[in-house]
Amino acid sequence: MAEGHAVHGMAARVRQLVGQTGRSSGPVTEVFDPAVVDGSAVAGAEAHGKHLLVHLGESRWSGHFHLGMHGRVSVRRHRRALGEDGLPRTDPPVPEGLAWRFLTGAFLLEVTRPTVCELLDAEGLAALHARLGPDPLRDDADPEVAVSRLHRSRRALGVLLLDQGVVSGIGNVYRAELLWRARIDPHSPGRAVPPEALQTLWQDAIDLMTVGLGAGWIVTDPGQLTDARDLLTRGEPVPRWPKRYAVYLRRGRPCPRCGETVRAERMGLQTAYWCPGCQVLHS
Ligand SMILES: [Zn+2]
Repeated sequence: MAEGHAVHGMAARVRQLVGQTGRSSGPVTEVFDPAVVDGSAVAGAEAHGKHLLVHLGESRWSGHFHLGMHGRVSVRRHRRALGEDGLPRTDPPVPEGLAWRFLTGAFLLEVTRPTVCELLDAEGLAALHARLGPDPLRDDADPEVAVSRLHRSRRALGVLLLDQGVVSGIGNVYRAELLWRARIDPHSPGRAVPPEALQTLWQDAIDLMTVGLGAGWIVTDPGQLTDARDLLTRGEPVPRWPKRYAVYLRRGRPCPRCGETVRAERMGLQTAYWCPGCQVLHS
């Protein structure tokens, strides 16, 4: 599943279409009618956690997409003969699982196999933002809200970090690596972890996910982070291999910090990985 940095990356690609009008098409459902936004111009795109929003100016509607496990957003430049309306005269072939296509004079945007594909008005947008927790990659995320939500709960921090209503955008890889970097056992109840440690964890989430957004993949290894930051500063691409993690997917292998055997256990909807040697259980 795409973690938040990947959805923010998709929003950035969709923003290439800002100001362009397009032809909207796709299957009609109870919550999505592509004709409603046909002929609109893209006014903006944003991510909140793992949710992608495409704002369509004149229609006053926004497309809301959640990609789940198999969904995909593709944004491609295309060269096709344009009609008098400035839009391509012919449609490209329809890919399998297409939920929405928005075709402008220069770009083809397609959403395939999403788990959510709907149109929201201003009220619907406000309700969506309200039910999602602060997102480390959004400018409007309030660190105090994030820390207090984590700190006031009796639930395990490992569960809280994946609960999109508490904080949003963090997925299974970031959960495992953030908690290892913070030396916190994922079973620690949120309320038992000192707020200062949660503040540090939140800032680390911002730092790591910002690099992840730039690199296009989840970089958490200290050496790879240094290299990735250098490359991003110079505007160069970050190599996608090898991907080094301390605990994620490393069940039964030695912790790179203390040598203890990494453990794994179902926690929330996904498997948590942690080192019992150097990640402290707060209780
Ligand atoms: Zn360890």
